[in-house]
Amino acid sequence: MMNRPALPPEIARRRTFAIISHPDAGKTTLTEKFLLFGGAIQMAGQVRAKGEARRTRSDFMKLEQDRGISVSASAMSFEYREFRYNLVDTPGHSDFSEDTYRTLTAVDAAIMVIDGAKGVESQTRKLFEVCRLRDLPILTFCNKMDRESRDTFEIIDEIQENLAIDVAPASWPIGMGRDFLGCYDMLHDRLELMDRADRNKVAESIKISGLDDPKLAEHVPADLLEKLKEEVEMARELLPTFDRQSFLEGHLTPIWFGSAINSFGVKELMDGIGEFGPEPEVFKSAERDVAPEEKKVAGFVFKVQANMDPKHRDRVAFVRLVSGHFTRGQKLLHVRSKKQMAVSNPVLFLAADRELAEEAWGGDIIGIPNHGQLRIGDALTEGEALRFTGIPSFAPELLQSVRATDPMKGKHLEKALMQFAEEGAAKVFKPAIGSGFIVGVVGALQFDVLASRIELEYGIPVRFEASQFTSARWVLGDKAAVEKLVNANKQHISYDHDGDVVFLTRLQWDIDRVERDYEGVTLSATKEMM
Ligand code: GDP
Repeated sequence: MMNRPALPPEIARRRTFAIISHPDAGKTTLTEKFLLFGGAIQMAGQVRAKGEARRTRSDFMKLEQDRGISVSASAMSFEYREFRYNLVDTPGHSDFSEDTYRTLTAVDAAIMVIDGAKGVESQTRKLFEVCRLRDLPILTFCNKMDRESRDTFEIIDEIQENLAIDVAPASWPIGMGRDFLGCYDMLHDRLELMDRADRNKVAESIKISGLDDPKLAEHVPADLLEKLKEEVEMARELLPTFDRQSFLEGHLTPIWFGSAINSFGVKELMDGIGEFGPEPEVFKSAERDVAPEEKKVAGFVFKVQANMDPKHRDRVAFVRLVSGHFTRGQKLLHVRSKKQMAVSNPVLFLAADRELAEEAWGGDIIGIPNHGQLRIGDALTEGEALRFTGIPSFAPELLQSVRATDPMKGKHLEKALMQFAEEGAAKVFKPAIGSGFIVGVVGALQFDVLASRIELEYGIPVRFEASQFTSARWVLGDKAAVEKLVNANKQHISYDHDGDVVFLTRLQWDIDRVERDYEGVTLSATKEMM
């Protein structure tokens, strides 16, 4: 990593991150405690509805209907000590992995939450791999230490082996389950004790001079103390020590042990992100690298959320500000349409409600209400025609054709489908031959969600049916070569919502054939959205 110039203090104090975990590990609980300590909510329990709601489909729909909750929970900002934290929510369900992927393009770091009894679970691993693609720095929180959990060395070994990353203990647990007392802070030589009486309060930490400090014995029973000394000594000998550079490059993760529900370990974790976490990073555009300290505002849309109110077609575009100091009302260039946009009602997301943002800095996430002009991947700047890269769209894994049950509503269906495609909720392909549409998704659940939304928001009952195609590939190449392919393979050709050419087939053989027979053409499973 190269040395960068010092950032303006307002930017340097920003920490923009996401939480990745397997369902049930404690992401919601941890989020809630962050917000509680950040003063963004008054009482734990206010974001609880969300964690529980996303588990089943009907609840998912209900949740999505409740705009207030779902929008404000997509990105949350809070202050703690001298830092401003921006926490971006990743959708919990594995069917929405593309959305998750894009969310992870908008953050500078991730917290990986694991359950102390279960270790690294499938969804954690998948999300971790996505973070690794971007070399995102990862902080690990081992949760539920108030329950019977695995041996500390075993947990650390599992992470190291399973995820091929070095793990450096930032804290060391003292006892576990009913005997869990708290942690020894390995980085600051402090004792952190858990307050079981008040789940929403953080007990004061006790400053000690090291493991030989006689004060330790006043707080830790002899048997646990002996075990602690032994283990810490062994850990210092056998495990990697925390190295910030290695952490920032994504090769090492510090691990904290705690119990989110008891508010224990949360403060240390927050301090950890503040102290070691990356400042807002440099982002790549097709034209050049864009650094946060640049005076001019630049940012990109990484998520679009449509309004569930059928009477309004408003949406909120979530923008990661990459650089500069934005003020409300500022006019920005919408690079794709080459039009100026006055951003007069940007939204900042505080846990309990949405607030108009008077200003924002590089690193922040703001919401911009709009009528559909803003799409995923779009750039906003003070005039430069930048296109941010690294925000991919993936070829869908499941394809179905869709029809309005009432043929008179075909035209409206097209409009509805295009809006969902722009929102990133599905891929929509219009075949070159014939009428109708092919819809592509990553997980089967999305077809059901789409069908309900199309009916609910547009009043169009639809039917999804098996399609003759199973694979979609974007056709890339110079114009003449692409045209030649298109003309000779009309039955395989379709167009996505941007008008880009897509090759549909059910045979890998077809894909190989095209790549062999048409020079200058590649069939791609991803497309850059810019
Ligand atoms: P999510 O699915 O990752 O968002 O997990 P939740 O935050 O909803 O937590 C899943 C369950 O674990 C809930 O019943 C929580 O009350 C519980 N839980 C969360 N943190 C802890 C903890 O530190 N200790 C214990 N014993 N339970 C916890």
